[in-house]
Order: sequence, then C-alpha cells, then structure tokens
Amino acid sequence: MQQFALSRQLLRQIFVWSALLVTLVTGAVFWASMAQTRDQQIANMALLAEQRVQAGRNFFIEAEQTTATFAQLFVSAYTARQNDPQLLQRYQQWTDETSPGVRRLQQRFHTGVTLDNVYWQALSAFIGPWSKPRDEELQARIMLALELLNQLGPAWQHRFANTHVTMPENVLLNYWPESAWGLLARADLDITAYAVVGSTLQANNPQRIPNWTGLYFDESAGHWVITYQRPVDYQGRHLITPSHDVYVDDVMNALVSDSTPAVEYYIFNQQSQLVAGPQRYQENNEYIGIIDVNKPGLEPLAALYQQIRDNPPQASGPQQFLQSSDGESLLVVTFVAGPNWYHVTRYPLAMIRTEAMTASLSIAGLGAALLLAVLLVVWLFVRHRISRPLQQLQHAAEAVSRGHYQTIASGDIRLPVAVNNEIGLLARTLRDMSQHISIEQETLEREVTKRTEQLQQANEKLAQMAHLDGLTGLFNRRALDRDIDALCTQQPSHAVALLLGDVDHFKGYNDNYGHEAGDIALQAIASCLVQSIEAGRVYRYGGEELAVLVPTHALEQARQLAEQARLAVAELDLHHQHSEFGRLTISFGVTLYSIGDEPTDLLRRADKALYQAKASGRNRVVSN
Ligand code: GH3
Ligand code: MG
Ligand code: MG
Repeated sequence: MQQFALSRQLLRQIFVWSALLVTLVTGAVFWASMAQTRDQQIANMALLAEQRVQAGRNFFIEAEQTTATFAQLFVSAYTARQNDPQLLQRYQQWTDETSPGVRRLQQRFHTGVTLDNVYWQALSAFIGPWSKPRDEELQARIMLALELLNQLGPAWQHRFANTHVTMPENVLLNYWPESAWGLLARADLDITAYAVVGSTLQANNPQRIPNWTGLYFDESAGHWVITYQRPVDYQGRHLITPSHDVYVDDVMNALVSDSTPAVEYYIFNQQSQLVAGPQRYQENNEYIGIIDVNKPGLEPLAALYQQIRDNPPQASGPQQFLQSSDGESLLVVTFVAGPNWYHVTRYPLAMIRTEAMTASLSIAGLGAALLLAVLLVVWLFVRHRISRPLQQLQHAAEAVSRGHYQTIASGDIRLPVAVNNEIGLLARTLRDMSQHISIEQETLEREVTKRTEQLQQANEKLAQMAHLDGLTGLFNRRALDRDIDALCTQQPSHAVALLLGDVDHFKGYNDNYGHEAGDIALQAIASCLVQSIEAGRVYRYGGEELAVLVPTHALEQARQLAEQARLAVAELDLHHQHSEFGRLTISFGVTLYSIGDEPTDLLRRADKALYQAKASGRNRVVSN
C-alpha cells in the first residue's frame, strides 16, 4: 500500500482543488443561469400569451377589414344603381309575402339557383314588419345588398360563421350556408328591438362606431356567438350594417386551448363575466359560456377578476404581469382589442422554478461530469506516468538494496527508461549505475578468485615447507609426528615399521672437521638412506637422528632394510678419525607398529632399541 501513497496524495489534492473549483464555477453558473432561465421563461410565456391573443385578434381585425370592404363596395353600387328598375323587378319576383307585412327571400336562393347568369346560394332574407311602407329606395337597397352578399359571402365563409346585413327598417339579409335564417325567423320579430341590432341605430350609436357585441347564445344557430357590426350611413342616413357572426368556439380555441396542463387560460369581458376558462368552469359540458364571477361558489374567480380590474392592461399598451393573490401563480394579462376582453394566462410559479431549476441542474450535472472526466484523466495519467514507473523504480531499488544489480543491468527488472521526464532520468541513472556496479562486481570476483588460487598455492607450498627439513631436503620431525598420528588413527591401520637411526660419534666429527663438514656429511647420509630404502619415507627426526617408515608386516624384513641402510652408510666411507670404525657409521633401532599403539609407544620402543644398539657398540641394528 505504501507505494501508492504518492498517487493517492496527488489524486486527493487534485480532487479537492478541482472539486472546489468546479463547485464554485458550477454554483455561479447555476445561479446565473437560474435567474436567466426564469426571466427567459417569463418572457416566453408573455410571448406565447401574446401569440395566442394575436391569433384571436386576427379574427377581429379581419372582420373589421371585410365589413369595411363591404361598406365601400355597397356605397359605390348604391350611388350608381339605386334607381335600377331591375332591382325592383327582382324584389317583386324573388321575395314572397309570407305573412301580412312580412316578406322573405325564396327558398331556392338558399339551396342554389342560377338567374341572369349568376349563381345564387346560401342566401336568406327576413323583411319584417315595419311601421312605414317599404318604398322603392328600400327595395332597391335590399336587392343591392343581397347582390353584394352573394358576391362576397363565399370568400369570407371560411373565417366567419356568416356574413349578414341588417337595416334599421327591420331587415336582415344573410349569407349563411348552414341556416336559412330569413325563412326561420318569427313573423313578428323586430330585430331593431334587440340590443345587438339596436346598438347600430343612430339613436343608440351617435358616433357611428363599429362594435363587437357581447357574447350571446344564438338559439337559432345553437352557438355562442359574438357579432361584429359596422353601421354604414350615406348622406346622414343609416343605410345598412354589414356584420359577421363569429362562433366564439373558434376564437376560444385560439385563445385558451391548453398545451401545458398546469397552465390555465381565462378570458373575462368587462361585465364581470368569465367568457372562457379552465375545464372546471364549463357549464353543462359546453366549451364556452358566460359565467358571472359573482355567482356564489366562485369566490377565487371573483378575486382574480377583481385583481385584473384593479390593474387593467392598457388597450394598446404592454401586457400586465401580476402575482396571484395566493402568491403561487404568475398572471399575464393581455388586452384583446375588439371585444375588449382580458386574456389571462396563469402560470404556477413552482413550474417556472422547476423548469429553471432543471435547466440549471443540467449545467451542474455537466460540471460534475466534467469533474469526473478530469479525475479519470488525472487518475489514468498518475497511474501510467507516475505510479507504475515509481513502482518499477521501487522494485529496482529493492534489488539494489539486496545487491542484485545484475537483474537491473540485464533488464530482468523493468525500468521506465524510455519516459521523457525526471522519472525516466532517474530510471536511466539507476540502470547505468547498476550496469557499472555489475561490471565492477564481476571484475572484483575474477580478481578474488585469482588471488584465492594464488593464496591456495602459496599455502600449499608453505605447508610443504613446514614438513621438510631445510638442510637435507628430507621430511622433518613435524612430518614424522603427523604421519605417525595418521597411522595410529587409521582403521584398519597400515602394517608399518619404524627405523630410528642415529649417526655415531657425530659430535666428535663436528668438533674435528667443522660444523660445515658435519652438514655435508648429514646431507650425504640422508640421500644414502633415501636411495637405500626405496620403499620407505625418510625423515630427519632431529640433529643427526634420522627415521624411516617402511610399509611391512615383518620385523625381520624391517631389520634387514635397516641393516642394508647401515651398510650403505658405512660404504660412504666418510672418514672419521675419532671413531673406532674410522669412518662415519649409523646405528638403528627397529620396531613394528602394532594395533592399539599410541604414537609415543612406537617412538619409545624404537628409541629403546636404538639405545640398545648404541649401548652394545654402535654401527649396528637392534630390533624389538
Ligand atoms: P653417539 O655415538 O653416542 O651418538 O655420540 P655423538 O657424539 O654422536 O652424540 P651427541 O648427542 O653427544 O652429539 C651429537 C652431535 O651432533 C652434537 C652436535 O654438534 C651435532 N650436530 C647435531 N645437529 C647437527 C647439525 O645439524 N650439523 C652439524 N654439523 N652437527 C650437528
Ligand atoms: Mg644423537
Ligand atoms: Mg649420535
């Protein structure tokens, strides 16, 4: 574990610092992005609400444009053709008096008919009871309006439920494929008595302002409807009011259809009524309706309406942003020009927070992923570039500590020598050092071997010298002791005889002929013994005493060999005038080694025999 301490420390340091850094940066980005995302969200909502209102508003704008076109074309036709007799003729021929004082356009104009090379269809007309007789001007005006309806109605049909024209003389002309309204209206109906048409009359609308009616339920159509009406006067006289019915279902779809479940849409008019709202306010499963917000049980709705009335958006101004009274929602209030509604989008603040949080969290997640990626890269780097090379260096260092330089020099222990950094430098130095030491070691070992051999040879020579006598070249007393010891400890021991010789009257020889002559004589006697007893080994026992170890079983044979040697010495004829024999002679004591002898036993017996030889006259052999 110890060898990873550096990597761990390094990783821990990097982790702590990078985690701190990433956390700080991510945190800062998190809060900044949270605020930005929240603002972005609110801006998106406002835009979305604006788009919705705009989509609804397009209906209203288009209605204003189409009725303006109708008015313009009608006035020019009216000025040109109001006295056209054909119009009066058509009035008489195409309308029937269906009840006293009531005329209606014939059914075929609704189902479809070609007259005067023109195709007439989807038209109906109710010319209701009127206090005055319908003069030719009115008849011509009715037929001119009918003609224009037939021309323009089909083009606008895709946008509006119908295109119709009312007149202050209780006349209603309609282009409406779905319904022949003019044939269905009650005979006693006075359309000018109702608020819708009533609001177009000069008496009720002196400024002659085109208007959107409030929402009403058209029983004959079976729809909630809002009607746009443009009163058209000519030379101070109210001639016609071109109008569109708009099925509010379509408008509502554009304004309040849900896309996000948590978001709610409301439309209020200015008469304390909910025009459209969330599912829970629908009555009788109708999509739309008008609900009085002051109805019992609708207190939250009333509070919402009141809040908007207290802070209304400007008709042409920006949207109003409000926080709901419960503090849980953001309200975006947009003014719908035309019907003058308030369009309200209600967003839960929690949703805004959640979405902002989600976006910001993904940034934080990204930061965390980045941190992990950095750590992974660092870990891999540390492992490959630091830990492993260091581990290899450590193994090499251990080898060095045990003196195994060769394992490094030979490459048995891998080292990161190819790495191009300080570790590589260290590894190369370690390798070179090991190679160097390894070579030195080998040289040293060779030298030691050589010296050891030399020493061994010198030792052997020294050992030899230790067992030889310098003067005679014979083995010395130490060699004799060694050989006798070996003899006595050998099991079974060799059969051997010891011949102990002593030169007779040698002191006198020395005294007479000089010590140097004594030495020469000793050398001569020594080599004589070596030649005489070839099978034996000759020792200089001490002074002028010589010993021979002879391999033999028989004492007699040993005695004969000694006798032979004694004679050989005498035959050297080394002149000695102070010897009774006139020359140098030698006496021998001979004994056989017997089993169980101690070295001293053998020497003592031989010495005793020698003593007897001396005592009995010298120049002789005594054995025992
Ligand atoms: P014996 O017949 O009883 O053996 O009489 P000896 O004179 O030989 O006996 P002794 O032991 O009294 O004298 C031995 C002499 O040998 C004494 C010494 O001067 C002489 N001697 C011993 N070693 C050497 C040597 O290495 N060189 C010479 N020149 N003389 C030696
Ligand atoms: Mg002696
Ligand atoms: Mg002697």
